[in-house]
This record gives sequence, C-alpha cells and structure tokens, in this order.
Amino acid sequence: MTRSIGDKVVAITGASSGIGEATARRLAQSGAKVVLGARRTDRLDRIVSEIKAAGGDAVACTLDVTQRSSVYAFVEAAVATFGRLDVFINNAGVMLVSPLGEFKVDEWDQMFDVNVKGVLNGIAAALPVMQRQEDGHIINLSSVAGHKVAPGFTVYCGTKFAVGAISEGLRQEAGPGIRCTVISPGAVQTELSSHIAAGAAKDAVDAMYATAALSPDAIAQAVVYAVSQSADVDVNEILIRPTAQN
Ligand code: NDP
Repeated sequence: MTRSIGDKVVAITGASSGIGEATARRLAQSGAKVVLGARRTDRLDRIVSEIKAAGGDAVACTLDVTQRSSVYAFVEAAVATFGRLDVFINNAGVMLVSPLGEFKVDEWDQMFDVNVKGVLNGIAAALPVMQRQEDGHIINLSSVAGHKVAPGFTVYCGTKFAVGAISEGLRQEAGPGIRCTVISPGAVQTELSSHIAAGAAKDAVDAMYATAALSPDAIAQAVVYAVSQSADVDVNEILIRPTAQN
C-alpha cells in the first residue's frame, strides 16, 4: 500500500542541526509526523515549537545513537506517540578529520561509534517494527566520502563506505515492503566541520566549504523525493554535490 507523505511517521536522528533539522522541517511542511532525536534537547524543543507554530506535527526525544537502549527508546516513543513508524532516517554523524599519522584514535572510535554503530543501532531498533508492518523505509546518510577517499578523511571515509555497504545489504535482506535509500551529499553548510580540531586539516576543510557548499535544505528536498515515491519504487541512492565541487 502506498501511503502519502502526509500519512507517514518519520523518525530522524541528529535532528538538532544541519541536514537533520532541515529534513525535519521539510517533511513536517509536507504533512509528515516527525520525531526528532539528538542529545541537545534545548535545540530540538525550539525546532519542534517552530514546526508546530507553522501547523506541523512533531515531537522531540533525547537520543544518543551510540547507546542501543537510547535508540530503542527513540523508536518506542515514535510508535507510542503516532502508532507506527514509516521512515527512519539514520542522519546523526560526526566528521573529525586528521591525517592517520596523528593517531587520534579516540576520534576514530567516536566516528565509528556514531556513524557506523549508530546506524546499526537504528536498523536494529526500527527494522523489526517495519517488518511487522510489512512496510517501511530506512534512509541512511552516507557522503561523497562514501565513494572516494581523500587524505585526512581516511577514517571518516571508512565509516561512510561502511554505511553504503550496510545499506546495500539491508536493501537485499530487509524483507517484503521495506525500502532502503542512501543519501550521499557533497559539501553542505552545517555544523559538521566545527568539531574538527584547529590545524591544517580544519583549515583545508574550511577552505573547501568556503568554495562550494549546499544549503541543508537541498539535501532535505532529496529526502522528500525519496520518501514521496510510491511503494513499488525504492530510490536506492541519491548522490548530490554543489555544482562547483570537484
Ligand atoms: P551537523 O553537525 O549539523 O549535525 C550532526 C547531527 O548529529 C547533530 O544534530 C548532532 O546532534 C547529531 N549527533 C552527533 N552525535 C550524536 C549522537 N551520539 N547521538 C545522537 N545524535 C548525534 O552536521 P550535518 O547536518 O552536516 O550532518 C548530518 C549527516 O550528514 C552526517 O551523517 C554527516 O556525516 C552527513 N554528511 C554531511 C555533509 C556535510 O558537508 N555537511 C556531507 C556529507 C554527509 P547532537 O549534538 O545534539 O546530539
């Protein structure tokens, strides 16, 4: 059965800023009921208030994607509030760029914990609900960095290549009625690079973003496109770069 976007319940991880926030706003404008998760709940509360003031339907939930119990609670909250879960967007991510030779092993751990294990936690929590419904859609945020490797981005690229592989396996294994989409953006103007430690790597990333970066809403529109298709259409991947990006 094809549900219109206005009948869908969508849960989004990392919805307190950037692409997640823009996607929550776009989907709510399109009539979807949105469940926003992240750690900064003050941000989520403000976004939810603004969505509601504009006539949308949204709730905020505290969420740490590295904690499996937190992700299960997030999905349970979505189902308890709106009665079902149609779309789960694994958007939360961190990009901590540095040359391998600096051995910032704690940052390597953090990227794999959020970008890979966080996605697996999302699948573990959301997929059983969708399998019971025989209907659902999991959308994973990868990146152009999930397609090509650049010096300094090695571990981040490793996490995003993993997201691509996990998504393709999920697409094949998920079962009847369940779709999987990978969204792979190029540079997007968000808070993502603000967590990189000061130094040459951060300067290079800042220069790249200053040259060409999309608005988060450009990615939100790609998500809306994937979510709006009829039930027999699975948009497997959208790769979307600024025109000026190499
Ligand atoms: P932002 O930094 O603006 O947003 C990242 C989001 O992830 C925040 O809402 C943050 O919320 C959340 N987050 C981080 N850690 C956790 C955690 N442990 N648990 C729950 N939420 C967490 O960056 P973007 O919007 O750019 O990033 C969104 C996704 O897009 C990421 O997966 C990123 O890799 C991907 N991407 C971004 C690109 C870009 O150029 N911006 C390009 C390609 C892909 P909080 O801190 O409140 O928990």
